[in-house]
Amino acid sequence: MRVLIVEDEIRLAQTLRDLLEMERYTVDISHDGENGLDNALSGIYDIVILDVMLPKLDGFSVLRRLRQNKQTVPVLMLTARSELTDRVEGLDCGADYYLTKPFEPKELLACIRALTRRQPELRLSNTLSFGDLQLDLDAVTLSCGEKSVRLSRREFDMMELFMQNKQSVLTKEHLLLKLWGYESNAEDNNVEVYISFLRKKLDYLRSSVRIKTIRMVGYCLEQ
Ligand code: CA
Repeated sequence: MRVLIVEDEIRLAQTLRDLLEMERYTVDISHDGENGLDNALSGIYDIVILDVMLPKLDGFSVLRRLRQNKQTVPVLMLTARSELTDRVEGLDCGADYYLTKPFEPKELLACIRALTRRQPELRLSNTLSFGDLQLDLDAVTLSCGEKSVRLSRREFDMMELFMQNKQSVLTKEHLLLKLWGYESNAEDNNVEVYISFLRKKLDYLRSSVRIKTIRMVGYCLEQ
């Protein structure tokens, strides 16, 4: 899961990043509203954590423009004050939830989980499956029958994407954006490298699932 934090207080942004990375989220930070809006418009985020008081463009304007651009990404707004007018304005312009600073890390994590739930099946079990494979979202392991292997974070994120998009083809560009982010210097080559890591692990597990290369298009899972 990829999270965008738009927060101008550098220390708070860093604390949030550390907290979320410990929970295995991939995190990007924008320190002002304009940059935050640019990043959020890329459409690669699963959730945006958006401060209200921001330089260049305030949080409400960022949110309004996001919604005007038909971006439905969940937005969790943060504000220093619990003023009712702020809350109402935030909800009016399309915020999904409002959290008042200071907040408990637990509360923030619970909000993020609630806002990023996609399929009912994900709530019941913490595993994704495809063919004979099971991806354990807590233990960060991929298993097949009795065999199991631990994945690095990027391998895990990539496998999670494949399993969430069963049998649809993921393009290299999509994988690159989702896994390395909008502004990173990663190249197509990175995707190939991690695909090959995952293929080695599938071989080791003796799974019947393969990552198929669709020439000039991308990759998909296949049994
Ligand atoms: Ca601020």
